[in-house]
Amino acid sequence: MEFAFLLNHINVLLLLVMLCVPCGFIQCPTDFGVSNILQATPSASVDFGRMYFNLPAAVLRPKSPREISFLLKSVRSSSPFSNRVTVAARGAGHSINGQAQALDGIVIEMDSLPDHIEIHSNSEEYGCSYADVSGGTLWIDLLRESLKVGLAPRSWTDYLYLTIGGTLSNGGISGQTFKHGPQVANVLQLDVVTGQGELLTCSKAQNSELFYAVLGGLGQFGIITRARIVLEEAPHKVKWVRVFYDEFEKFTRDQELLVTAMEGMVDYVEGLTFLNQHSLLSSFAAFPSDPDLLPGLHGESNTSIYYCIEFAVHCHHKKASNVQKATMEEEVVRRLNHIRSLVQRAEVSYFDFLNRVGMEEEKLRSKGAWDVPHPWLNLFVPSFSITTFKDLLLQNISPTTFEGPLLIYPIRPDKWDANMSVVLPRAHAGKRNDSLIYVVGVLRSAPPECVPETPCLNRIEQQNRRIVETATRWLSAKQYLPAYSRRRQWEEHFGESGWLRFQARKAQFDPLNVLAPGQRIFSRWEADSKKNNR
Ligand code: FAD
Repeated sequence: MEFAFLLNHINVLLLLVMLCVPCGFIQCPTDFGVSNILQATPSASVDFGRMYFNLPAAVLRPKSPREISFLLKSVRSSSPFSNRVTVAARGAGHSINGQAQALDGIVIEMDSLPDHIEIHSNSEEYGCSYADVSGGTLWIDLLRESLKVGLAPRSWTDYLYLTIGGTLSNGGISGQTFKHGPQVANVLQLDVVTGQGELLTCSKAQNSELFYAVLGGLGQFGIITRARIVLEEAPHKVKWVRVFYDEFEKFTRDQELLVTAMEGMVDYVEGLTFLNQHSLLSSFAAFPSDPDLLPGLHGESNTSIYYCIEFAVHCHHKKASNVQKATMEEEVVRRLNHIRSLVQRAEVSYFDFLNRVGMEEEKLRSKGAWDVPHPWLNLFVPSFSITTFKDLLLQNISPTTFEGPLLIYPIRPDKWDANMSVVLPRAHAGKRNDSLIYVVGVLRSAPPECVPETPCLNRIEQQNRRIVETATRWLSAKQYLPAYSRRRQWEEHFGESGWLRFQARKAQFDPLNVLAPGQRIFSRWEADSKKNNR
């Protein structure tokens, strides 16, 4: 191991020297100086999960996509000297399992690209408004900028301090996904630097294989340097409602109703599960209402479980339509089969609604509870097995000590594009609503002392593994933000034809397996040995 580590450092060093010394076969542009290649900093080896800490050999802070292209071309053309060098784009580093890290490789910090946001209203070409935005830009910055002209993206994640390139490499899902599809389904065009260093523009009509590969492609095929994101008119406020349940079946039935028959009446739907009083109370960090107004949820034993559907109705400036929205929201509440005495309503600005997890972050940071290990688990579970999955979950986690949000909400696979690289479970199209898929987010915070290799973190990781194994094997579930380390697991994750397609795309766009080594799907050693065997 030590040998490999040393050798790899020498490889990176050689590459860096070649990048900066003018020589025969590698062009050394004057605008690509040593100052842009920094020594490895700890931030490039840490992520939100705080479970993996892989130190790169160097960090690149590019000022333009051209510099990224140059680096990747150099890795390719200097292959005999740099045959172990890997490169990972790092967005906001909000991965859980080291996906944006590159042990002994080069990390490209995408936030150093100029934060370029260009808004185009009512484009005739697309029949909608759109924003051109750099791959390293945070979604919250795109929101701020587009709201200035009354526009906003329509598909979101719950948390906005994530980068455009980071979420588009995964999917990007939230309570709007049932209606507008994931973020990857709301992209018109991309600029991508492939693993070979080619800077290409792609869309459904141009270089389409690259376009589809990169969306949900786990950073395997190229680095997104610009994305063209669909915008819509932003609502000026949001009616935000929470209704509560003490029966799982009623909770899921109502959610399914909301995203199918009542789709036109709501703009956002998510479901939360409260396993204990603490998780209930902490869910009020952003919701502008007092939890004491929910007397029915107090004084119960610690283990009583409550479910909550959160839905939102957007209000636009036109008065008439807002009156309709107010009655619409009441009508939705009336039609749902929730605990009648427990309804909470709030009216907030669109920005505050979308930034709700940002507000929770502030509270958690003030308590020192943000920078802790996060052994998170995210799954897509078909609706036909969601009740069995809930039982499996409760068998494997302790409701009394669980800390963090537990999300369960449905999305509609018909709003996804199967050409993209994201993997969804196959849904049964037989019975009513059997074509829906649930997003399950088991977003657990571990105590700060639960660092890697301690029994307490090992225990949580073991529980997660058991849940994943059973849910994927028996309940047709798939991991979202997948984390596997063995080839066989990846093959099962993608399924036979999906895996063949993923491999073929890798061979086309990153044949040397340079990109995103932290995903642990392909390794450079493997690419080298294939080449030597030819
Ligand atoms: P990073 O962690 O930096 O990178 C993730 C992967 O993408 C890595 O493999 C990296 O190499 C690659 N990558 C990064 N930038 C680029 C680029 N420009 N081009 C190509 N590849 C790139 N996800 C949801 O879908 N919905 C949610 O509601 C949601 N909420 C979250 C809330 C919190 C508090 C956190 C921490 C995460 C949440 N996530 C959610 C998960 C999040 O979308 C992913 O972890 C995402 O990858 C994070 O983006 P990032 O910019 O931090 O990416």
